[in-house]
Amino acid sequence: MSEILWRRALELFAGGVNSPVRAAVKPYPFYVEKGEGAFLYTVDGQRLVDYVLGYGPLILGHANPYVKEKIKEQIDKGWLYGTPSKKEIELAEKIRSHIPSAEKVRFVNSGTEATMLAIRLARGYTKREKILKFDGNYHGAHDYALVSAGSAASEYNVLISGGIPTSILNTVVLCKYNDLECVEKTLKTEQIAGVIVEPVMGNMGVILPDKDFLNGLRELTKAYNSLLIFDEVITGFRLGLSGAQGYFNVIPDLTTLGKIIGGGLPIGAVAGKKEIIDNLTPSGKVFNAGTFNANPLSMTAGVATIEVLETTNAYDIANKAAKEISDELNALFSRKNLEFTINRIQSMFQFFIGVKKVTNADDARLANRELYIKIHEKLLKLGVFIPPSQFETIFTSSAHTDEVINITIEAFRKVVNEI
Ligand code: PMP
Repeated sequence: MSEILWRRALELFAGGVNSPVRAAVKPYPFYVEKGEGAFLYTVDGQRLVDYVLGYGPLILGHANPYVKEKIKEQIDKGWLYGTPSKKEIELAEKIRSHIPSAEKVRFVNSGTEATMLAIRLARGYTKREKILKFDGNYHGAHDYALVSAGSAASEYNVLISGGIPTSILNTVVLCKYNDLECVEKTLKTEQIAGVIVEPVMGNMGVILPDKDFLNGLRELTKAYNSLLIFDEVITGFRLGLSGAQGYFNVIPDLTTLGKIIGGGLPIGAVAGKKEIIDNLTPSGKVFNAGTFNANPLSMTAGVATIEVLETTNAYDIANKAAKEISDELNALFSRKNLEFTINRIQSMFQFFIGVKKVTNADDARLANRELYIKIHEKLLKLGVFIPPSQFETIFTSSAHTDEVINITIEAFRKVVNEI
């Protein structure tokens, strides 16, 4: 059945898909009939344990009953008003109560829109044009950030996207992740509006910040009057309610959010200091607008998701699953005498075979990607779905119970023994 749908898709979509990483599942992507808890059910009748989880948003697993109920209630009241609703106030207040840097918020519809707007805001606020970004960090699919981006841009080797004016490419300065010397040199010699960073990289596999990296960025950006932008589209509400900034206790000027704050529906947000956010239209002159901004369905799913995160042990379950599976992998790879490293934080991890450490994108590029794909493919046959690219994150959710962990570990044991 998936094969037949795929043939139709190839006639309709470039490369058969609407977002490139989906085509990395070979020989063709499976089509999903239903998602429930930790599982995806394909149109071919297969049940898969899901470690992709919509590429991050589904920290409660698929179709969480509470979130589903709240979405249904909202659907009964209509789903687009073109005027404010109470739900946007509730979600913004939740974000402000948890995310330390968030004094004010602007809702948009994707992480891409959020980082695009945060960069425009940094430029408008500082009256400078250049942005510093890090090799392998992915900030979405817009012109300002598609230079040496991770995720599918690295998977498909599109380190500079076609179609972006040279004048825009020239406004982006690159440093390697964890390289504070490069950051200092750049801030000293160039007029940088903002430094945008994934506080934990989730788009070259998982890569953690060195002990002093985020603090160093905070001090340097302050010293050189440039804004620090944390792109917490993945880490926001995943590392905990206060995101990476709470986890590492480093407070940026601007924060971009997405994924989890929409509970699986489309969303993005820019949050930050009041005096910066107030530069947005209509109170300021940095333009942003959106037909679907703060749409009631996304707001509702986001509020409901955060309510569950606030009131249950969802984080404990998700974190435990990631720890137990990565510990088992550690043991399995060690027994095989493979050179490898596993990077994990809370409910996100990735393994890299053939390298001893991965602290920046260059290290990640040295990993044995063919072997990663082989493992992905063998796992899929055994009913376990990890991302089809080395340059993505394995996520766990509160639906990844002991039973689900055991199914997964069994599959990993078989696969690693065969390689
Ligand atoms: N920033 C980061 C850190 C991301 O991981 C992503 C998406 N994976 C984005 C921005 C873009 O978000 P979206 O896909 O919702 O546009």
